[in-house]
Amino acid sequence: MARVVVLGLASDFGCQVQMTNMEDHLLDVLGAIELEYWQLAASGHMPEDYDVAIVEGAVTTEEHVELLKRVRETASTVIAIGSCAVTGGIPALALSGDLEDRVGCVYGESGALVACGRILPMPVGAIIDVDYHVVGCPIDPAEFVEVLHRAIQGLRDAVPLEPMCATCKIAENTCFYDRGEVCLGLVTRAGCGTKCISLGRPCTGCRGIAADANFESAKAIVERMGADLDLLLERAQLYNNARKDLS
Ligand code: SF4
Ligand code: SF4
Repeated sequence: MARVVVLGLASDFGCQVQMTNMEDHLLDVLGAIELEYWQLAASGHMPEDYDVAIVEGAVTTEEHVELLKRVRETASTVIAIGSCAVTGGIPALALSGDLEDRVGCVYGESGALVACGRILPMPVGAIIDVDYHVVGCPIDPAEFVEVLHRAIQGLRDAVPLEPMCATCKIAENTCFYDRGEVCLGLVTRAGCGTKCISLGRPCTGCRGIAADANFESAKAIVERMGADLDLLLERAQLYNNARKDLS
């Protein structure tokens, strides 16, 4: 049975909370793993040895870097869950502007975080190899269980490569660009079932930029449809600010 640990870096622990919401799928998983440590839900210490490490949150301190290196040496499988871990997510917004100023705003000039060895925020994959990814903010419990199964069975990672417009059409949503409104679904990884769009809200890109997305074509479409290109670029930063190629 796979020995599993769950740990969090810089995040609001929302994805670990989502894991507690997987009652419907719990029985599928319980027989296949031994949950040895869960940072959110357990009071014990992380064991020295384990097989699968599930990591939530962005890397923002030297301690995170050292922890991840130890995790990679120990675990045969590393799963990054949530936008913070996969793309840098919301913590990576701190990459815009002056980080010192931002820390000073919150903690004052002496900056309590100075003692924590803070570094510029980055995704887990910037420090260690990641074997499996569960994208989204927060993650979907059913998708998490599916990826965990894939990991335990040694199947390949299956994050969708394509943007979500095709599935959006299948879902028979009216495209926001028909109304001149910006939607990040043009470039965002499919796989959420067009959750927000089907509820009448444009996609804000929480699953990250799709590997097959063509950002240049997307920009041309936005201009052609008379939507606000600056707004597209601004919204694309929300979960993808650690990327340098979106401008
Ligand atoms: S841009 Fe958004 S609303 Fe339009 S088809 Fe793509 S995902 Fe759907
Ligand atoms: S529609 Fe976009 S913002 Fe909403 S859950 Fe899907 S990827 Fe995330």
